[in-house]
Amino acid sequence: MLTETACPFCSIDPVKILLENELAYAFYDGFPVTLGHTLVVPKRHVASFFEITAEEQAALFDLVGKARELLLRQHGPDAFNVGINDGVAAGQTVLHLHIHLIPRYAGDTDDP
Ligand code: 5GP
Ligand code: ZN
Repeated sequence: MLTETACPFCSIDPVKILLENELAYAFYDGFPVTLGHTLVVPKRHVASFFEITAEEQAALFDLVGKARELLLRQHGPDAFNVGINDGVAAGQTVLHLHIHLIPRYAGDTDDP
């Protein structure tokens, strides 16, 4: 497998991995925007959601569902934001595809 050593998600510390399947990992975001902010990434170094295989897509969504269950048990959030910044102009800062799974807690924002 191609591993990009300069890529933080290719060189993630194995002890930080929360969940894993054949093609994907889940781990906590290093700079969480809420308690439990999790990233789900393919094991393969690929930048875009639109470049992955159907098998990788299924593996990512499998871990999004399993990470949600884990976060519900650990932290009891009320809701989630699930999202991808796909491309630099869209706000992607790490060019290794990642799905943000952001637990939300009632009243955690000032927005109406
Ligand atoms: P983006 O802006 O590309 O959608 O999100 C990149 C995310 O990766 C950010 O939420 C940032 O906090 C997180 N991040 C950046 N570097 C690291 C790292 O070395 N380890 C972990 N766990 N998360 C990181
Ligand atoms: Zn990578």
